[in-house]
Amino acid sequence: MRKTNTLSQDRERFNGNFTQQEPIPDAGIQRAVEVLQSGRLHRYNVVEGEKSDTALLETEFAEYQGARFCLACASGGYAMQVALSSFGLEYGEPVLTNAFTLSPVPGAVHNVGGKPVLVETTEQLVIDLVDLERKIESSGSRVLLLSHMRGHIADMDHLCDLLDQKGVSLIEDCAHTMGASWSGRLSGSFGVAACFSSQTYKHINSGEGGFVTTDDPDLMARAIIRSGSYMLYEHHDAAPEPAAFSDIRFDNPNCSGRMDNLRAAILRPQLKILGGNRERWNERYHTLEQALGVIKGVTLPIRPKAEVYVGSSIQFLLKEMTAEQIQMVISTCRERGVELKWFGASEPAGYTSSHDSWRYIDNQSLPATDRILSKLLDMRIPLTFSLEDCRLISRIIDQCITASAPENSPDAG
Ligand SMILES: *Cc1c(COP(=O)(O)O)cnc(C)c1O
Repeated sequence: MRKTNTLSQDRERFNGNFTQQEPIPDAGIQRAVEVLQSGRLHRYNVVEGEKSDTALLETEFAEYQGARFCLACASGGYAMQVALSSFGLEYGEPVLTNAFTLSPVPGAVHNVGGKPVLVETTEQLVIDLVDLERKIESSGSRVLLLSHMRGHIADMDHLCDLLDQKGVSLIEDCAHTMGASWSGRLSGSFGVAACFSSQTYKHINSGEGGFVTTDDPDLMARAIIRSGSYMLYEHHDAAPEPAAFSDIRFDNPNCSGRMDNLRAAILRPQLKILGGNRERWNERYHTLEQALGVIKGVTLPIRPKAEVYVGSSIQFLLKEMTAEQIQMVISTCRERGVELKWFGASEPAGYTSSHDSWRYIDNQSLPATDRILSKLLDMRIPLTFSLEDCRLISRIIDQCITASAPENSPDAG
Protein backbone atom coordinates (compact mmCIF):
# COMPACT_ATOMS: atom_id res chain seq x y z
CA MET A 1 0.00 0.00 0.00
CA ARG A 2 2.85 2.38 0.75
CA LYS A 3 3.87 4.34 -2.27
CA THR A 4 7.33 5.00 -3.57
CA ASN A 5 8.04 8.42 -4.89
CA THR A 6 9.78 7.93 -8.20
CA LEU A 7 12.28 10.23 -9.80
CA SER A 8 11.55 9.72 -13.46
CA GLN A 9 14.17 11.46 -15.56
CA ASP A 10 14.12 15.10 -14.52
CA ARG A 11 10.61 15.10 -13.15
CA GLU A 12 9.68 14.01 -9.65
CA ARG A 13 6.22 12.59 -9.20
CA PHE A 14 4.14 12.21 -6.05
CA ASN A 15 2.48 8.83 -5.76
CA GLY A 16 0.52 9.34 -2.55
CA ASN A 17 -3.25 9.52 -2.32
CA PHE A 18 -4.92 12.80 -1.30
CA THR A 19 -8.06 11.02 -0.13
CA GLN A 20 -6.36 8.31 1.93
CA GLN A 21 -7.03 8.72 5.64
CA GLU A 22 -5.45 6.71 8.43
CA PRO A 23 -7.00 3.44 9.62
CA ILE A 24 -9.49 3.50 12.51
CA PRO A 25 -7.59 2.93 15.80
CA ASP A 26 -7.52 -0.72 16.91
CA ALA A 27 -9.65 0.00 19.98
CA GLY A 28 -12.35 1.35 17.67
CA ILE A 29 -12.22 -1.65 15.36
CA GLN A 30 -12.42 -3.99 18.32
CA ARG A 31 -15.39 -2.20 19.83
CA ALA A 32 -17.08 -2.05 16.41
CA VAL A 33 -16.80 -5.84 16.14
CA GLU A 34 -18.38 -6.21 19.59
CA VAL A 35 -21.26 -3.95 18.56
CA LEU A 36 -21.74 -5.99 15.39
CA GLN A 37 -21.70 -9.21 17.37
CA SER A 38 -24.29 -7.83 19.78
CA GLY A 39 -26.62 -6.98 16.92
CA ARG A 40 -27.67 -3.86 18.85
CA LEU A 41 -26.69 -1.14 16.39
CA HIS A 42 -29.64 1.18 16.96
CA ARG A 43 -28.88 3.70 19.68
CA TYR A 44 -31.99 2.93 21.73
CA ASN A 45 -31.54 -0.84 21.45
CA VAL A 46 -29.95 -1.46 24.85
CA VAL A 47 -30.32 -4.20 27.41
CA GLU A 48 -31.17 -3.45 31.05
CA GLY A 49 -28.57 -1.18 32.61
CA GLU A 50 -26.58 -0.78 29.37
CA LYS A 51 -25.55 2.60 27.97
CA SER A 52 -25.26 2.76 24.21
CA ASP A 53 -21.99 3.78 22.59
CA THR A 54 -23.88 6.69 21.05
CA ALA A 55 -24.97 8.02 24.45
CA LEU A 56 -21.44 7.55 25.83
CA LEU A 57 -19.95 9.36 22.85
CA GLU A 58 -22.34 12.28 23.40
CA THR A 59 -21.21 12.60 26.99
CA GLU A 60 -17.56 12.43 25.97
CA PHE A 61 -17.98 14.96 23.18
CA ALA A 62 -19.89 17.36 25.44
CA GLU A 63 -17.04 17.09 27.95
CA TYR A 64 -14.45 17.64 25.25
CA GLN A 65 -16.25 20.79 24.07
CA GLY A 66 -17.08 22.00 27.55
CA ALA A 67 -20.75 22.09 26.48
CA ARG A 68 -23.69 21.15 28.69
CA PHE A 69 -25.46 19.13 26.02
CA CYS A 70 -24.60 17.13 22.90
CA LEU A 71 -26.58 15.29 20.25
CA ALA A 72 -24.82 12.83 17.92
CA CYS A 73 -26.51 12.61 14.54
CA ALA A 74 -26.31 11.37 10.98
CA SER A 75 -24.09 14.04 9.39
CA GLY A 76 -22.70 17.53 9.74
CA GLY A 77 -25.31 18.75 7.29
CA TYR A 78 -28.04 17.23 9.44
CA ALA A 79 -26.50 18.82 12.54
CA MET A 80 -26.82 22.28 10.93
CA GLN A 81 -30.42 21.62 9.87
CA VAL A 82 -31.50 20.39 13.28
CA ALA A 83 -29.63 23.22 15.03
CA LEU A 84 -31.32 25.87 12.88
CA SER A 85 -34.81 24.41 13.22
CA SER A 86 -34.36 23.82 16.97
CA PHE A 87 -33.18 27.40 17.32
CA GLY A 88 -36.67 28.25 16.12
CA LEU A 89 -36.02 29.40 12.59
CA GLU A 90 -39.25 30.31 10.85
CA TYR A 91 -40.14 29.54 7.27
CA GLY A 92 -38.75 32.19 4.91
CA GLU A 93 -36.45 33.78 7.53
CA PRO A 94 -33.13 35.19 6.35
CA VAL A 95 -30.03 33.41 7.67
CA LEU A 96 -26.63 35.08 7.39
CA THR A 97 -23.86 32.76 6.30
CA ASN A 98 -20.48 32.73 4.54
CA ALA A 99 -20.35 33.05 0.77
CA PHE A 100 -17.15 30.99 0.88
CA THR A 101 -18.16 27.61 2.24
CA LEU A 102 -19.18 24.14 1.15
CA SER A 103 -22.61 23.37 -0.31
CA PRO A 104 -24.05 21.62 2.81
CA VAL A 105 -24.13 25.04 4.51
CA PRO A 106 -26.49 26.93 2.17
CA GLY A 107 -28.19 23.56 1.66
CA ALA A 108 -28.95 23.26 5.37
CA VAL A 109 -30.41 26.78 5.52
CA HIS A 110 -32.58 26.12 2.48
CA ASN A 111 -33.74 22.71 3.72
CA VAL A 112 -35.19 24.16 6.91
CA GLY A 113 -36.98 26.90 5.01
CA GLY A 114 -34.42 29.67 5.58
CA LYS A 115 -33.11 32.12 3.00
CA PRO A 116 -29.32 32.28 2.91
CA VAL A 117 -27.90 35.81 2.93
CA LEU A 118 -24.30 35.37 1.83
CA VAL A 119 -21.58 37.45 3.43
CA GLU A 120 -18.31 38.39 1.73
CA THR A 121 -14.92 36.84 2.41
CA THR A 122 -11.62 38.51 3.25
CA GLU A 123 -8.23 37.59 1.80
CA GLN A 124 -7.60 35.77 5.07
CA LEU A 125 -10.51 33.54 4.01
CA VAL A 126 -12.78 34.48 6.89
CA ILE A 127 -16.14 36.24 6.98
CA ASP A 128 -15.89 39.99 6.26
CA LEU A 129 -17.14 41.78 9.39
CA VAL A 130 -17.86 45.03 7.53
CA ASP A 131 -20.08 43.24 5.05
CA LEU A 132 -21.59 41.23 7.91
CA GLU A 133 -22.67 44.40 9.68
CA ARG A 134 -24.11 45.78 6.45
CA LYS A 135 -26.07 42.59 5.82
CA ILE A 136 -27.34 42.31 9.39
CA GLU A 137 -28.91 45.69 8.78
CA SER A 138 -30.21 45.11 5.28
CA SER A 139 -31.62 41.62 5.95
CA GLY A 140 -32.90 42.03 9.51
CA SER A 141 -31.69 38.49 10.13
CA ARG A 142 -31.48 37.29 13.74
CA VAL A 143 -29.03 34.44 13.18
CA LEU A 144 -25.60 33.85 11.67
CA LEU A 145 -24.57 30.33 10.64
CA LEU A 146 -20.83 30.93 10.71
CA SER A 147 -18.76 28.50 8.69
CA HIS A 148 -15.16 28.28 9.87
CA MET A 149 -14.40 27.32 6.31
CA ARG A 150 -11.20 25.31 5.81
CA GLY A 151 -10.36 25.93 9.44
CA HIS A 152 -9.89 29.70 9.20
CA ILE A 153 -11.31 31.40 12.28
CA ALA A 154 -12.50 35.00 12.09
CA ASP A 155 -11.66 37.47 14.87
CA MET A 156 -14.16 35.99 17.32
CA ASP A 157 -13.84 38.86 19.81
CA HIS A 158 -14.95 41.42 17.24
CA LEU A 159 -17.45 39.11 15.66
CA CYS A 160 -19.15 38.31 18.98
CA ASP A 161 -19.18 41.99 20.00
CA LEU A 162 -20.87 42.89 16.73
CA LEU A 163 -23.49 40.14 17.08
CA ASP A 164 -24.18 41.11 20.70
CA GLN A 165 -24.63 44.74 19.74
CA LYS A 166 -27.06 43.82 16.99
CA GLY A 167 -28.90 41.08 18.87
CA VAL A 168 -27.93 38.40 16.34
CA SER A 169 -27.48 34.79 17.51
CA LEU A 170 -24.55 32.67 16.42
CA ILE A 171 -24.55 29.04 15.28
CA GLU A 172 -21.07 27.75 14.42
CA ASP A 173 -20.27 25.31 11.64
CA CYS A 174 -17.14 23.62 12.99
CA ALA A 175 -16.77 20.99 10.26
CA HIS A 176 -13.13 22.12 9.81
CA THR A 177 -12.41 23.37 13.34
CA MET A 178 -13.04 20.40 15.61
CA GLY A 179 -10.02 20.66 17.93
CA ALA A 180 -9.26 24.30 17.06
CA SER A 181 -9.55 27.36 19.27
CA TRP A 182 -9.52 31.17 19.37
CA SER A 183 -7.84 32.95 22.31
CA GLY A 184 -7.80 29.73 24.28
CA ARG A 185 -11.49 29.06 23.76
CA LEU A 186 -12.57 26.04 21.71
CA SER A 187 -14.21 26.64 18.38
CA GLY A 188 -17.84 25.71 18.90
CA SER A 189 -18.13 27.42 22.28
CA PHE A 190 -18.94 30.94 21.05
CA GLY A 191 -22.56 30.70 19.97
CA VAL A 192 -25.95 29.34 20.98
CA ALA A 193 -25.09 26.06 19.25
CA ALA A 194 -22.28 24.46 17.26
CA CYS A 195 -22.29 21.81 14.56
CA PHE A 196 -19.58 19.28 13.77
CA SER A 197 -19.00 16.57 11.18
CA SER A 198 -17.34 13.17 11.50
CA GLN A 199 -17.47 12.53 7.77
CA THR A 200 -14.32 10.81 6.45
CA TYR A 201 -12.49 13.99 5.40
CA LYS A 202 -12.92 15.87 8.68
CA HIS A 203 -10.98 15.46 11.93
CA ILE A 204 -12.55 12.27 13.21
CA ASN A 205 -13.85 9.65 10.82
CA SER A 206 -16.98 7.52 10.92
CA GLY A 207 -17.74 7.70 7.21
CA GLU A 208 -20.74 9.90 7.99
CA GLY A 209 -21.78 11.52 11.24
CA GLY A 210 -22.23 14.79 13.09
CA PHE A 211 -22.83 16.54 16.41
CA VAL A 212 -24.74 19.48 17.80
CA THR A 213 -23.58 21.01 21.07
CA THR A 214 -25.34 23.71 23.08
CA ASP A 215 -25.88 24.97 26.63
CA ASP A 216 -29.53 25.77 25.91
CA PRO A 217 -31.85 23.07 27.34
CA ASP A 218 -34.81 23.92 25.10
CA LEU A 219 -32.74 23.97 21.95
CA MET A 220 -31.26 20.57 22.85
CA ALA A 221 -34.62 19.05 23.82
CA ARG A 222 -36.04 20.12 20.44
CA ALA A 223 -32.97 18.78 18.62
CA ILE A 224 -33.25 15.40 20.34
CA ILE A 225 -36.95 15.02 19.52
CA ARG A 226 -36.37 16.16 15.94
CA SER A 227 -33.43 13.77 15.51
CA GLY A 228 -35.87 10.88 16.00
CA SER A 229 -35.74 9.98 19.68
CA TYR A 230 -39.45 9.12 19.77
CA MET A 231 -40.25 9.14 23.51
CA LEU A 232 -36.92 7.55 24.37
CA TYR A 233 -35.14 10.80 25.16
CA GLU A 234 -34.30 9.58 28.64
CA HIS A 235 -31.64 7.40 27.02
CA HIS A 236 -29.67 10.60 26.41
CA ASP A 237 -27.20 11.57 29.13
CA ALA A 238 -25.73 14.76 27.62
CA ALA A 239 -29.28 16.10 27.65
CA PRO A 240 -31.58 18.27 29.77
CA GLU A 241 -33.84 16.79 32.47
CA PRO A 242 -37.01 15.01 31.28
CA ALA A 243 -39.12 17.99 32.37
CA ALA A 244 -37.56 20.02 29.53
CA PHE A 245 -39.32 17.70 27.08
CA SER A 246 -42.82 17.95 28.48
CA ASP A 247 -44.21 20.24 25.77
CA ILE A 248 -41.38 20.03 23.30
CA ARG A 249 -42.06 16.35 22.59
CA PHE A 250 -45.50 17.26 21.21
CA ASP A 251 -44.44 20.29 19.22
CA ASN A 252 -41.47 19.03 17.22
CA PRO A 253 -41.58 16.74 14.20
CA ASN A 254 -39.42 13.62 13.98
CA CYS A 255 -36.89 14.23 11.19
CA SER A 256 -34.95 10.96 11.68
CA GLY A 257 -31.22 11.59 11.63
CA ARG A 258 -29.78 9.57 14.49
CA MET A 259 -26.26 8.29 14.89
CA ASP A 260 -25.88 4.53 15.39
CA ASN A 261 -23.71 2.56 17.79
CA LEU A 262 -21.32 1.31 15.13
CA ARG A 263 -20.24 4.82 14.21
CA ALA A 264 -20.09 5.88 17.83
CA ALA A 265 -17.90 2.85 18.62
CA ILE A 266 -15.28 3.87 16.06
CA LEU A 267 -15.41 7.56 17.01
CA ARG A 268 -14.88 7.25 20.76
CA PRO A 269 -11.18 6.30 20.60
CA GLN A 270 -10.58 8.92 17.88
CA LEU A 271 -11.74 11.70 20.17
CA LYS A 272 -8.95 10.73 22.58
CA ILE A 273 -6.25 11.23 19.93
CA LEU A 274 -7.66 14.39 18.39
CA GLY A 275 -5.22 16.66 20.27
CA GLY A 276 -2.22 14.60 19.17
CA ASN A 277 -3.51 14.51 15.62
CA ARG A 278 -3.86 18.29 15.60
CA GLU A 279 -0.10 18.51 16.25
CA ARG A 280 0.62 15.99 13.48
CA TRP A 281 -1.58 17.92 11.03
CA ASN A 282 0.12 21.16 11.97
CA GLU A 283 3.63 19.76 11.42
CA ARG A 284 2.56 18.92 7.90
CA TYR A 285 0.84 22.27 7.46
CA HIS A 286 3.92 24.17 8.67
CA THR A 287 6.20 22.20 6.34
CA LEU A 288 3.99 23.07 3.38
CA GLU A 289 3.46 26.65 4.54
CA GLN A 290 7.21 27.25 4.78
CA ALA A 291 7.98 25.74 1.40
CA LEU A 292 5.05 27.29 -0.46
CA GLY A 293 5.51 30.67 1.23
CA VAL A 294 8.81 31.34 -0.56
CA ILE A 295 7.47 30.65 -4.06
CA LYS A 296 7.19 33.81 -6.14
CA GLY A 297 3.56 34.72 -6.75
CA VAL A 298 2.15 32.58 -3.91
CA THR A 299 0.20 34.31 -1.12
CA LEU A 300 -0.69 32.32 1.97
CA PRO A 301 -3.27 33.45 4.50
CA ILE A 302 -1.73 35.01 7.60
CA ARG A 303 -2.77 32.96 10.63
CA PRO A 304 -3.54 35.18 13.63
CA LYS A 305 -1.77 34.53 16.95
CA ALA A 306 -5.07 33.96 18.74
CA GLU A 307 -5.93 31.10 16.40
CA VAL A 308 -4.98 27.50 17.15
CA TYR A 309 -5.96 25.70 14.00
CA VAL A 310 -6.00 22.14 12.72
CA GLY A 311 -4.02 22.18 9.48
CA SER A 312 -5.94 19.45 7.69
CA SER A 313 -5.86 21.42 4.44
CA ILE A 314 -3.93 24.37 3.03
CA GLN A 315 -5.03 27.28 0.84
CA PHE A 316 -3.03 29.74 -1.21
CA LEU A 317 -3.71 32.51 -3.68
CA LEU A 318 -2.06 32.92 -7.08
CA LYS A 319 -2.99 36.59 -7.31
CA GLU A 320 -1.05 37.53 -10.40
CA MET A 321 -2.08 34.59 -12.53
CA THR A 322 -4.74 34.53 -15.21
CA ALA A 323 -7.42 31.83 -15.21
CA GLU A 324 -5.54 30.04 -18.01
CA GLN A 325 -2.31 30.04 -16.02
CA ILE A 326 -4.06 28.73 -12.90
CA GLN A 327 -5.68 26.01 -14.99
CA MET A 328 -2.20 25.13 -16.28
CA VAL A 329 -0.80 24.90 -12.74
CA ILE A 330 -3.64 22.56 -11.75
CA SER A 331 -3.27 20.28 -14.75
CA THR A 332 0.52 20.06 -14.62
CA CYS A 333 0.38 19.39 -10.88
CA ARG A 334 -2.22 16.69 -11.47
CA GLU A 335 0.01 15.00 -14.07
CA ARG A 336 2.64 14.77 -11.37
CA GLY A 337 0.30 13.41 -8.73
CA VAL A 338 -0.53 16.62 -6.85
CA GLU A 339 -4.25 17.34 -6.52
CA LEU A 340 -5.22 20.99 -6.18
CA LYS A 341 -8.79 22.24 -5.97
CA TRP A 342 -9.75 25.57 -7.49
CA PHE A 343 -12.65 27.49 -5.99
CA GLY A 344 -12.67 29.84 -8.97
CA ALA A 345 -13.34 27.18 -11.61
CA SER A 346 -16.18 28.09 -13.95
CA GLU A 347 -17.80 24.66 -13.46
CA PRO A 348 -18.30 23.12 -9.98
CA ALA A 349 -16.13 19.99 -9.63
CA GLY A 350 -15.72 17.31 -6.99
CA TYR A 351 -16.60 18.73 -3.59
CA THR A 352 -15.95 22.30 -4.69
CA SER A 353 -18.62 24.71 -5.88
CA SER A 354 -19.07 28.44 -5.51
CA HIS A 355 -22.15 30.46 -4.67
CA ASP A 356 -23.20 30.95 -8.27
CA SER A 357 -23.78 27.18 -8.57
CA TRP A 358 -26.34 27.25 -5.74
CA ARG A 359 -29.20 28.19 -8.04
CA TYR A 360 -31.88 27.24 -5.53
CA ILE A 361 -31.04 30.37 -3.50
CA ASP A 362 -31.48 34.00 -4.54
CA ASN A 363 -28.69 35.15 -6.80
CA GLN A 364 -26.38 37.49 -4.85
CA SER A 365 -23.64 39.87 -5.85
CA LEU A 366 -20.36 39.07 -4.04
CA PRO A 367 -17.58 40.81 -5.95
CA ALA A 368 -14.91 40.47 -3.22
CA THR A 369 -15.55 36.76 -2.73
CA ASP A 370 -15.56 36.18 -6.49
CA ARG A 371 -12.26 38.01 -6.89
CA ILE A 372 -10.60 36.03 -4.09
CA LEU A 373 -12.01 32.64 -5.09
CA SER A 374 -10.88 33.18 -8.69
CA LYS A 375 -7.27 33.02 -7.41
CA LEU A 376 -7.71 30.49 -4.60
CA LEU A 377 -6.26 27.00 -4.60
CA ASP A 378 -6.89 24.40 -1.95
CA MET A 379 -5.17 21.15 -1.03
CA ARG A 380 -6.04 18.43 1.44
CA ILE A 381 -3.37 17.24 3.88
CA PRO A 382 -4.20 13.70 4.98
CA LEU A 383 -2.22 12.34 7.94
CA THR A 384 -0.99 9.52 5.73
CA PHE A 385 1.44 12.04 4.17
CA SER A 386 4.93 12.22 5.68
CA LEU A 387 6.84 15.48 6.10
CA GLU A 388 9.02 14.34 3.21
CA ASP A 389 5.86 13.93 1.12
CA CYS A 390 4.97 17.53 1.99
CA ARG A 391 8.37 18.76 0.83
CA LEU A 392 8.09 16.81 -2.42
CA ILE A 393 4.58 18.17 -3.05
CA SER A 394 5.87 21.71 -2.46
CA ARG A 395 8.70 21.23 -4.98
CA ILE A 396 6.25 20.00 -7.60
CA ILE A 397 3.90 22.94 -6.99
CA ASP A 398 6.86 25.32 -7.20
CA GLN A 399 8.00 23.87 -10.52
CA CYS A 400 4.48 23.91 -11.97
CA ILE A 401 3.91 27.53 -10.94
CA THR A 402 7.24 28.63 -12.37
CA ALA A 403 6.56 26.80 -15.62
CA SER A 404 3.05 28.24 -15.90
CA ALA A 405 4.11 31.86 -15.31
CA PRO A 406 7.21 32.45 -17.40
CA GLU A 407 9.25 35.39 -16.09
CA ASN A 408 8.51 37.68 -19.02
CA SER A 409 4.84 36.95 -19.32
CA PRO A 410 2.97 40.27 -18.97
CA ASP A 411 0.71 38.65 -16.35
CA ALA A 412 3.48 37.35 -14.13
CA GLY A 413 4.23 39.56 -11.16
C1 LIG B 1 -18.17 18.76 5.35
C2 LIG B 1 -18.76 20.04 5.71
C3 LIG B 1 -19.96 20.14 6.42
C4 LIG B 1 -20.83 18.99 6.81
O1 LIG B 1 -20.62 17.88 6.14
P1 LIG B 1 -21.31 16.46 6.17
O2 LIG B 1 -20.69 15.80 5.01
O3 LIG B 1 -22.78 16.69 6.03
O4 LIG B 1 -20.98 15.80 7.47
C5 LIG B 1 -20.36 21.38 6.81
N1 LIG B 1 -19.66 22.47 6.53
C6 LIG B 1 -18.51 22.43 5.85
C7 LIG B 1 -17.76 23.71 5.61
C8 LIG B 1 -18.02 21.22 5.42
O5 LIG B 1 -16.87 21.18 4.72
